Amino acid sequence: MRVLVTGGAGFIGSEYVRLLLGRPLGAAAGVPALEPATVTVLDKLTYSGNPANLDPVRHDPRLRFVRGDICDPELVDQVVADHDVIVHFAAESHVDRSITGAAPFVTTNVLGTQTLLDAALRHGTGRFVHVSTDEVYGSIDEGSWTEDRPLAPSSPYSASKAGSDLLALAYHRTHGMDVVVTRGSNTYGPYQFPEKVIPLFVTNLLDGGTVPLYGDGGNVRDWLHVHDHCRGIALVQRDGRAGEVYHIAGGTELTNRELTGRLLEACDAGWDRVVPVADRKGHDRRYSLDTTRIREELGYAPSIDLDHGLAETVRWYRENRAWWEPLKADPAG
Ligand code: NAD
Repeated sequence: MRVLVTGGAGFIGSEYVRLLLGRPLGAAAGVPALEPATVTVLDKLTYSGNPANLDPVRHDPRLRFVRGDICDPELVDQVVADHDVIVHFAAESHVDRSITGAAPFVTTNVLGTQTLLDAALRHGTGRFVHVSTDEVYGSIDEGSWTEDRPLAPSSPYSASKAGSDLLALAYHRTHGMDVVVTRGSNTYGPYQFPEKVIPLFVTNLLDGGTVPLYGDGGNVRDWLHVHDHCRGIALVQRDGRAGEVYHIAGGTELTNRELTGRLLEACDAGWDRVVPVADRKGHDRRYSLDTTRIREELGYAPSIDLDHGLAETVRWYRENRAWWEPLKADPAG
């Protein structure tokens, strides 16, 4: 099996590559044996892509790295040609950036996905795994979304992801392509660019600085370790039903205020380091995924509980300043 991973130098994509090549962050036990013959990473290396994320597998002879844009039809056509499976992570991924400038989100997330789907269709690629997010559903005050819930995205980021999900599913319905879609919840762990809340707060606190807490801090998110997110995607890649959507979640919901409390404790800091800031525009109050389908059909269960995962993540940022200090100094890349 020859696997193409788009966005494989990013946070989640790089864990997927490490997992495919037998060097994941978490225990490999319980991970489906996909045993790829080759893994190609196609990544533009935007500000959030970092070749250092692939250091643990850099010398694996099965790995090939192509620097390039998923919106470039000629390049994508060439790269897709020799692959049996595409696992598509590449995206503009930060909600706050989409609020100040939506254009790259529409270009990469919608046009880039369509460019890949067209190439996969031309070359008869065996399976297309489209990696998406719980944010496509909007906000839910109580209960949880099932996979058939209509999409109602709130931000330009989530709207562009919803557009790409619908395109991927349309290629299944129109052309009979073997497409599966995953929608994961808020993901955390090592190698996450320090603009997202957990690495931003942890690195600010480790540097003796303050952390900005949006609004009343009451927004609720489910937290999923990056290793568990990738285990879920691997199960879907191997056993998911074509044309279906699968939810992947960690199982622990926290308000941002509760999360902040845990991070302060882990970094030996007090509430005096928290600065309340005006709420994010269009800020979704709560996300919550029903994970019955992936649990019952594919046997998925998260393996890393939040307390342990957060402690290990804080430890990783403490011990890997050389990874994140240059990114904080020049966040535009
Ligand atoms: P990330 O920003 O860390 O990584 C994105 C990667 O895509 C980077 O390596 C970047 O260089 C690459 N990329 C961006 N534009 C590109 C282009 N035009 N061509 C080629 N490569 C390009 O993001 P992430 O957090 O790892 O997210 C990966 C995927 O998972 C995204 O599709 C995102 O929507 C989805 N997702 C993320 C989360 C989360 O909490 N981070 C949760 C659910 C789903």
